[in-house]
Amino acid sequence: MKAHREAPLVLIADDDRMVRFMVCKMLRKDAISVCEAGDGREAIEAFKEHKPDIVLLDVMMPEQDGFTTCELLRSLPEGEHVPVIMVTGLEDIDSIRKAYEVGATDFITKPINWLILGQRIRYMWRVNLMSCRLRESEENKRALLDAIPDMMFKLDQNGTIMDFKAPNDSRLSLSPWKIIGRPVHEILFMEAPQQAGARISRVLENGSTQIFEHRSQLGGEWRHYESRIVRSGDNGALAMVRDVTERKEAEEQIVQLAYHDNLTGLLNRHRFREHVRHALAHGERYGRQLAVLFLDLDRFKRINDTLGHNIGDLLLQSVAARLQQCVRTSEVPTRVNADAAGSLISRLGGDEFVILLTEIDHIQDAAKVARRILDSLTAPFELSGHEIFISTSIGIAVYPVDGRDADTLLKNADAAMYSAKEQGRNNFQFYTESMNAAAFERLALENNLRKALARGEFRLHYQPQLDTQSGKIVAVEALIRWHHPDLGLVPPVDFIPLAEETGLIVPIGAWVLQAASEQNRQWQKMGLPPLRMTVNISSQQFRQNDLVQNVSHALETSGLEPQCLELELTESAIMHNTDLAISMLRQLKLMGIRIALDDFGTGYSSLSYLKRFPIDVVKIDRSFVRGLNRDGDDEAITLAIIAMAHSLDLKVVAEGVETKEQLTFLREHNCDLVQGYYYSPAVPPDGIEALLESPGADPIQAR
Ligand code: C2E
Ligand code: MG
Ligand code: MG
Repeated sequence: MKAHREAPLVLIADDDRMVRFMVCKMLRKDAISVCEAGDGREAIEAFKEHKPDIVLLDVMMPEQDGFTTCELLRSLPEGEHVPVIMVTGLEDIDSIRKAYEVGATDFITKPINWLILGQRIRYMWRVNLMSCRLRESEENKRALLDAIPDMMFKLDQNGTIMDFKAPNDSRLSLSPWKIIGRPVHEILFMEAPQQAGARISRVLENGSTQIFEHRSQLGGEWRHYESRIVRSGDNGALAMVRDVTERKEAEEQIVQLAYHDNLTGLLNRHRFREHVRHALAHGERYGRQLAVLFLDLDRFKRINDTLGHNIGDLLLQSVAARLQQCVRTSEVPTRVNADAAGSLISRLGGDEFVILLTEIDHIQDAAKVARRILDSLTAPFELSGHEIFISTSIGIAVYPVDGRDADTLLKNADAAMYSAKEQGRNNFQFYTESMNAAAFERLALENNLRKALARGEFRLHYQPQLDTQSGKIVAVEALIRWHHPDLGLVPPVDFIPLAEETGLIVPIGAWVLQAASEQNRQWQKMGLPPLRMTVNISSQQFRQNDLVQNVSHALETSGLEPQCLELELTESAIMHNTDLAISMLRQLKLMGIRIALDDFGTGYSSLSYLKRFPIDVVKIDRSFVRGLNRDGDDEAITLAIIAMAHSLDLKVVAEGVETKEQLTFLREHNCDLVQGYYYSPAVPPDGIEALLESPGADPIQAR
């Protein structure tokens, strides 16, 4: 700010010496300094020399009049704002108008009122000082505003742009006529007009400052901006808008570098693990499964070594693209997906990739994707004139069974990948020790089971059924045993379900029928008392059309009479297809064969329903027999079964009789037959022979 004097210095330009003298005298009396000029030209010189604070110019001067002088003064650098008072003749309206036209500040009419001249000069001087200060502060403000790189939009309470300012170096040349008077959301916030409107209202309501980022198309291209909206005046707002595109791009680049693999653009390990952690949290909350697929390209090193790293890099990029394709076209939804669609794929480094599958419903979904990947890599890659074939080995770990945290899942998927390599590459393997081990065991068991028949590893043991009244052995149940060369004796519960699943039960069951019939005939030939042989028939066997044929074949070849054979079926076997079952059972009945219903009480247990089936015997399941003398319900059920069976003219066998008390209860309540460890477990044929030949006609009583 320019230094100001204690009192003003006044330049008086007048060709009338008397006037000059009077002015000097009167002003000096008021402690105002004065310098003089006799005409217009002198006035300019004096102005340049003394830089007065106020200029009094007589209008009428020879050579150069006051008007011309005033114009010249105004064109001087320091003369622009200096107060110029024109001294005119009284009521000379024309002169007054002209004085203002040439830039005069005010006028005094002659004759001059000397009494108030000093006061007027001082007043004018103070006013000028103030306007000087105001001008300076305005200039400072403007300089400050110009220095700010932001654009500014002045808004009224409706969000209409009233004025705006763009920085001088702005690349945008915004035309005021395109902007002023338009709603701000059309110019700045076209992407989120409502949100912006709400923010402006908030600013107007409570004077808060609202800051937010948005995109706008101010200069034709879309760029990122940060807007700060503040209240301005009583009823308006000011939006300060800064172009943050460069910063945004830099941020994005940092994210890209920090989170992505440079070569393929896929997520890097760090970012991938973060994704997995998020997905795990989500999976835990909603009880969802996830799968991590770990891929390693087969023999990638060979390509790098023979074709060079450039081709190797190109190949990795192309593989990444195909993987993205596979995951994207997958019907497995990939919801935990913050970035692009392929963001759940990561390159861990080298030729290792991992894929996160979220929201899988079945483990098979992961297998489907793995298979798709294997398929997609079979087509050769054309790279710089080379045709390259590659395959991959994939390991799969599933949350939650194979791990509950990112590291464990990755580690286990990696282990599974190695097992895939060992299996000969170009395949996928699931992790889970147990899953693999169980699958392996099952496979081994299945292979052995297939060979067991040919190798003659099956045996039949026989468990006696005794008549409760006579105490005599009247029947035996044939129960299969597998003498496995390594595993030893394998109980039926361990292999019958597998035999049923694989269909092996059909030839095995045929063998049992044959062997049991032959054994019974053998005993008859040995002269032992006649026995009924009961043989278990699995539901699968029952569904085969050749069961009747198998039975008659067994009877024919062994020479056994049909009444010496009883078939044990379960409820579920005959309920499966009732019409077929009934006709099949009728055929067997016609042949003279007896039918027993095994494990009765554990299934449908509807005796009245069973009326429709031509059966002869009901075997009360051992779970009820176990509760006899202990559990009132079991006793009641047992009694009900006996009563109903008898009412339908069926015989009743109690299975699993282990104690004397059970036996007594059953005998007292007219159960016809008993079978169980109390008398004997299933034993080899010579065991039966020994029991039959042993002295004492009533084995039950004998014990
Ligand atoms: P199931 O037909 O109910 O056979 C009775 C099972 O109970 C036999 O077991 C027998 O050893 C057992 N058992 C006998 N008395 C007692 C006792 O007092 N207490 C207890 N706790 N158990 C007793 P096993 O031999 O292990 O046979 C199990 C199942 O395997 C059989 O149940 C049958 O469903 C099936 N099975 C056995 N042999 C054959 C076969 O040749 N063909 C078919 N399809 N299935 C068979
Ligand atoms: Mg049975
Ligand atoms: Mg049973």
